[in-house]
Amino acid sequence: MTLKMLNTLTGNKELFVPKKSGEVGIYVCGVTLYDDIHIGHLKSILSFEVMRNYFQHQNYKVTLVRNITDVDDKIIAKAESLGLDPLDLVNSYIANFHTLLNKLQLPAPDIEPRVTEYLNEISDYIQDLIDSGYAYVTDDGIYFNTQINKQIRYPLSKKIVDDLDNNSRIDDLNYNKWHKADFALWKLDNTYGYHSNVFKKQGRPGWHIECSVMHHHTLGKEFDIHGGGRDLIFPHHENEILQSVAHNGVMPANYWLHNGMMTKDGKKLSKSLGNSIYVKDILNDYSGEALKLFLNKGQYNQSQEFQISELNDAQVFWDNFVRDIPNYSNNYVLSEYSFVDMMIEALSDDFNTPKALNILYEAVKELKKTKEHFFALHILELFKLLAILRF
Ligand SMILES: [Zn+2]
Repeated sequence: MTLKMLNTLTGNKELFVPKKSGEVGIYVCGVTLYDDIHIGHLKSILSFEVMRNYFQHQNYKVTLVRNITDVDDKIIAKAESLGLDPLDLVNSYIANFHTLLNKLQLPAPDIEPRVTEYLNEISDYIQDLIDSGYAYVTDDGIYFNTQINKQIRYPLSKKIVDDLDNNSRIDDLNYNKWHKADFALWKLDNTYGYHSNVFKKQGRPGWHIECSVMHHHTLGKEFDIHGGGRDLIFPHHENEILQSVAHNGVMPANYWLHNGMMTKDGKKLSKSLGNSIYVKDILNDYSGEALKLFLNKGQYNQSQEFQISELNDAQVFWDNFVRDIPNYSNNYVLSEYSFVDMMIEALSDDFNTPKALNILYEAVKELKKTKEHFFALHILELFKLLAILRF
């Protein structure tokens, strides 16, 4: 089965060709844990979990890497407001995060790197950038020099550097950098900074550098798929590309896949807008399976409206399915006719989960109608592919 996926880098739906036959390396930008996760985070996690399932089903050796940002301005600000140590705060949210994913039957990624585990590698990487002229030191930190190659246009967003509004939040403009598009690699910080094996003054890494370093050390200089939310394209992924190309001379990933945003009444759900919907709150009223059924109704790279009526429908469907399971669970026999093949075909078209979900609904309808056991195993496989059941 050939797989096609929309590559943000080219704007085209492209045939997937792995760097190494039979293997796929995926790096997804994870969460900054200074709060519980919201529905948008789960949309991203689920989207890339379905991709992992797809590749595994196609017998690929998959390495899914999803990082955790445990050093960040927002973590520090929240910890200060609560009178807590930032690392204690972030550790408590990481524990909550893992408990929640477990409850949702969503497995851990193959590698889950944390920034604090990579501080030496980050320091070495920054030193390499200084040595090659791509980074410079000021009195408050170390910055990436975007002007060294006369950067004109960003490769993913196609934004033109000179068109950037000087007031846009490219990075914190209070910092002492040479050009508006430059960004912090290492911020000096006497209070919450870390000692590094390279720099004399303690500090902490900027946001973008952590991902360049972590995918370099987990997947190598070049890997297959880089993913994340659409809101990370600029500046985060653009700056990751600048750093990685400066350091390694090659584009880190061939395919850049971006999941769409969750909306309510057409407006993006986000913490900054104060309209976040927390996953733990939804789970007070709905099962994890219903929530994941609902999320699969939207294709990964499209925006999806948070519709309570659709969530209700998903819950009714799930409850009915569970009620009927005892009728079918004792006699699994493989069928000639495979809904699984149909689902794989749907997912091979840019991970079209809405189409895949319809196939699952059809299969369950068929199962109820025939009262036969013969394709029950296939149906469980459909739930597994869409990351709704794990077994
Ligand atoms: Zn990232």
